[in-house]
Amino acid sequence: MSSLNETWRQRSLAAVWHPCTQMKLHAPGGAALPLVPVARADGVWLYDHEGRRYLDAISSWWVNLFGHNHPAIREALTDQLNRLDHVMLAGFTHTPVVELSERLAAATGLGHAFYGSDGASATEIALKMSAHHWRNAGRPHKNRFVGLAGGYHGETVGALAVTDITLFREAYAPLVRLAATVPSPDVRAALPGEPGADVAERAARALAGWLEEHHERTAALIVEPLIQCAAGMAMHDPHYLRRARELCDRYEVHLVLDEIAVGFGRTGTLFAHQQAGIRADFLCLSKGLTGGTLPLSVVLATDEVYAAFYDDEVARGFLHSHSYTGNPLACRAALATLDLFEQTDALRRNEATAARLAAQFAPLSAHPRVRHARQQGMVFAWDVASSLLDFGRRYARHALEQGLVLRPIGHTLYAMPPYVIDEEEGAWLAQGARAALEATLAEEDAGAGLVGGVEVRDGV
Ligand SMILES: *Cc1c(COP(=O)(O)O)cnc(C)c1O
Repeated sequence: MSSLNETWRQRSLAAVWHPCTQMKLHAPGGAALPLVPVARADGVWLYDHEGRRYLDAISSWWVNLFGHNHPAIREALTDQLNRLDHVMLAGFTHTPVVELSERLAAATGLGHAFYGSDGASATEIALKMSAHHWRNAGRPHKNRFVGLAGGYHGETVGALAVTDITLFREAYAPLVRLAATVPSPDVRAALPGEPGADVAERAARALAGWLEEHHERTAALIVEPLIQCAAGMAMHDPHYLRRARELCDRYEVHLVLDEIAVGFGRTGTLFAHQQAGIRADFLCLSKGLTGGTLPLSVVLATDEVYAAFYDDEVARGFLHSHSYTGNPLACRAALATLDLFEQTDALRRNEATAARLAAQFAPLSAHPRVRHARQQGMVFAWDVASSLLDFGRRYARHALEQGLVLRPIGHTLYAMPPYVIDEEEGAWLAQGARAALEATLAEEDAGAGLVGGVEVRDGV
């Protein structure tokens, strides 16, 4: 009875408090969301302790790019471990952090790299830097922020100020200095026949109106370029980003681009905002930065911002730190990841992979209960017309039975697989995704669960 999987499941439930989870849902006899013990991973596959495998179709919360256990990244990490494990970055520097900063500057045109460990810490750094910049510039009243409806920028208390997802924020509302929100350019808001650029223009006008009134107190606008992932893969036309850039210039407000999820090729270009031909004042990166191996985040800033902190007075500097800032192992993994983009011509190959996947997903996209089938680069999403409040959780369970990790956000099903997914794996994914949909809808048709479901980040 007590299999290896079961042993690890029970030990985990007794000792580990899992993220973004109502733990009671994992309780034996509870709403039966299985906790999956993973023993090892390779390529697109996760393996449990008994050899059962699951295709990681959401890249382990969007972090993995070139598959698990990639030999090139593993080799770089092993080499780095033999040289330098870690050293504090205040007062010291090292080869990986210098090389990584130089390469990120070359790729983005933003020449000053400040490191953190998670996406949320990158958001905090960007917000603090922006407000501090204006203070140093003699404009201390510019200390408020504005974001998009449905925006997600992390869940620490500072980041929650600009994260417009009620479920994540509600319990902590008294702790948070809430930012303003302006309408999202989500293309799903299009009227029949209306192009995405027109939706973007409408949202840009709302932003213009807001900035007109509030710019004197506003430090920065924060935006997830092209896809608001946590909002349910809400996609928008690059026109919005061009307009946001113009308006931020006109009203002297920083533009913070959060590419924590969409950076590193997900949307088709190395960085999503490159499709709009604009530059950020602050660019936040994490998740795919290390290819999904180690935690690392970075905020890239302009020369102008950097110059506002460069002074004889200590307190005008950016006195922010995290113990593991610029960890050499994480930076080395990031360098190996950047190498893989070049060595494998990844962006070009992804074009072909994405086209192949789109064809494989065609039967799912044509499903009568699917609305707004959409794609941007290597991100695919479908809204499902279902009355099940716990659609996401039910779907995720059926997906696991199909050997797939797919965890809808509310009623939005999406796939964001590692770039190395091959034709056969893509067919497995597309076939299983549709089968899991049929199984979930069959439960609905049988009158199942109109009970209150909890819809969070990934449907758990
Ligand atoms: C995941 C995410 C974050 C937060 O990153 P963490 O590492 O989970 O703190 C911030 N912004 C966006 C757009 C994200 O997708």
